[in-house]
Amino acid sequence: MYEVLVVGAGPAGMSAALVLGRSRRRVLVCDSGRPRNAVTPAMHGYLSRDGLPPPELRRIGREELAHYPEVAVRDEPVLEVARDAGGFVATLGCGERVRARKLLLATGVVDELPAVPGLPSLYGRAVWHCPYCDGYELADRPLAVYGKGARATSELRALTRFSRDLVVCTDGDDEFGDAERACIESVGASVRTERVVRLEPRPDGLAIVFDAGPVVERAGLFFSTALHQRSKLAESLGCSFDEGGLIVTEDNQASGVPGVYVAGDAARSVLLAIVAAGEGAQAAFAINRELLREEFP
Ligand SMILES: Cc1cc2nc3c(=O)[nH]c(=O)nc-3n(C[C@H](O)[C@H](O)[C@H](O)COP(=O)(O)OP(=O)(O)OC[C@H]3O[C@@H](n4cnc5c(N)ncnc54)[C@H](O)[C@@H]3O)c2cc1C
Repeated sequence: MYEVLVVGAGPAGMSAALVLGRSRRRVLVCDSGRPRNAVTPAMHGYLSRDGLPPPELRRIGREELAHYPEVAVRDEPVLEVARDAGGFVATLGCGERVRARKLLLATGVVDELPAVPGLPSLYGRAVWHCPYCDGYELADRPLAVYGKGARATSELRALTRFSRDLVVCTDGDDEFGDAERACIESVGASVRTERVVRLEPRPDGLAIVFDAGPVVERAGLFFSTALHQRSKLAESLGCSFDEGGLIVTEDNQASGVPGVYVAGDAARSVLLAIVAAGEGAQAAFAINRELLREEFP
């Protein structure tokens, strides 16, 4: 029987496992090998690791966890988790069942890409969703926003930190009201409302091809993404979700479902790797305290 089962070995899950291992808790970390940032060559804004390739962070994390004999890391998906008398019983991909007193879901999210031909293969190279993650590298170069309505102008506003050569591609009806039009005017951006037929790679970025009018070449295109949970485990355990599909937690990452904690992108917060790691540490702290209270009432 493990004391804690951590599902997901991204920044959130590994950070939690480190703090739990250092509290000498018996921890099993399971990972299905599908991190959110798999497409990107560099992770930015993570103090001490700015620009590091994401697989390198995971390699270093596992190397550090290997110093703690209490922590086991397995490359196994967790297919199912059910409650049992002592806590939880989980079924792994290999069919094995493992038991744990507490559960931490650090399972991340999946970005929903706009259905534009050519976009998926450019995602992480010339197409991005997060100005905080990837805006700086594109500073002072021509950029595009793909989107409609207030989501588009929110992305546009964020991109003014990096460039003033901005075009908004609405791919049909712009869904702009007075506020959005005022924003576009104040930024000085241009707007293209023709249908976007496809994106094409260019040596220095991408080309946006419309169903009418001239092609636009840009160094990068940003879209504001919808997302969904990578895993169904939280739903099956009865966690609560906000309107954007993120799991609602308390300040200590407790989900409100007894014994279940959630950290990282899966939980509602700023979706950055360093925040995910911080939430993992926060959850570990809370889990250890809960275990201690049960052990020494
Ligand atoms: C294109 C792109 C660029 C980005 N750039 C940056 C950046 O520059 N800086 C930054 O701070 N952030 C960046 N991000 C965001 C960053 O990727 C996330 O904030 C971070 O990965 C969140 O960590 P996490 O541990 O919550 O989730 P993840 O890193 O997604 O890890 C979750 C893990 O859980 C595993 N998992 C899920 N379900 C199961 C299951 N049932 N069983 C076992 N394992 C499971 C997955 O396989 C995965 O390995 C970027 C994201 C994208 C998409």
